[in-house]
Amino acid sequence: MIDLRSDTVTRPTMAMREAMASAEVGDDVFGEDPTVNRLQETVAVMLGKEAGLFVPSGVMGNQLALKLHTQPGDEVIVERQCHIFNYESGAPGLLSGVQLAVLDGNNGILEPEQISRAVRPGYYWEAPSRLVCLENTINKAGGVIYPLVQQRAIADVAREAGLALHLDGARLWNAAIGSGHSEKELAAPFDTVNVCLSKGLGAPVGSVLVGSREHIKKAHRYRKLFGGGMRQVGILAAAGLYALAHHHDRLADDHTNAYFLAEGIASIPSFSVDLATVQSNIVMFDVHEQPVTTVLERLQGEGILMVPFGPTTIRATTHLDVSTEDIEHVLSVMNKHWG
Ligand SMILES: *Cc1c(COP(=O)(O)O)cnc(C)c1O
Repeated sequence: MIDLRSDTVTRPTMAMREAMASAEVGDDVFGEDPTVNRLQETVAVMLGKEAGLFVPSGVMGNQLALKLHTQPGDEVIVERQCHIFNYESGAPGLLSGVQLAVLDGNNGILEPEQISRAVRPGYYWEAPSRLVCLENTINKAGGVIYPLVQQRAIADVAREAGLALHLDGARLWNAAIGSGHSEKELAAPFDTVNVCLSKGLGAPVGSVLVGSREHIKKAHRYRKLFGGGMRQVGILAAAGLYALAHHHDRLADDHTNAYFLAEGIASIPSFSVDLATVQSNIVMFDVHEQPVTTVLERLQGEGILMVPFGPTTIRATTHLDVSTEDIEHVLSVMNKHWG
């Protein structure tokens, strides 16, 4: 099987498993797991923040950020394509009691003026605007990299209005590789940033939320409250440390493979791809009038997995377990059926 459904399908390599098996551990609820502490410190330093908190999932990292920046009844400004609005089970309403102001961007990217227009002036009959959440890379927009200048301009407007800023950086590593900016530069405009170890980096589990010492202290308490206090979890943190040391720079290969795939698909008349949006490890392509399910079934019959992402859209994602030869094979199969 060539599994292009998501970069979350990777399995830990032998070397990663060995790093996990030999990890030094302790009870992390007591703050005594040295491997967790090392991971939190490593990611915080990499992103230029004071502190970090290891969490079981990206959803928990994002939801902790919403919780610590808001009070029930507040409003959070997001873009329509974002993960927090689409794929987090309605958690902002349930866990933080906030409402979302959902803005429409261009490929998930907002203009600073949209933020200033969305900020509520503060009448008592309105929900107070409190927080802006951005995403980088933008998953639903096809892995588009949020331009740093744009994020800085949005942050300026938000700060001017007294709002906090959170970045869902599930694939911040890809944004760094793809843009040439460091993770630290990309994280700088934000108070808190969540990054995933379980996507392209290939760790089995885990995300890290970073921010000021004060923010992370609050998040630590809420992580326990949300049921995310874990014990000898250095076993998992070790996988994250291993991934950062060994799987970070190779993300460039995933980007090359994704673009190679996108160009190949673009050359098949039955499909279309907006190559301008193929900026990292995700390819979204349109199947025109054919049913998405038929295309997916035919691919599956050839041992190739992709996922539907809209009525006429399919998503393919490259990762650690996909080689250039695999992409060549996928393209030959697609040319055989549709070329
Ligand atoms: C995967 C992802 C998350 C978090 O997902 P989990 O499955 O909870 O780890 C958050 N934001 C984006 C953009 C993602 O792609």
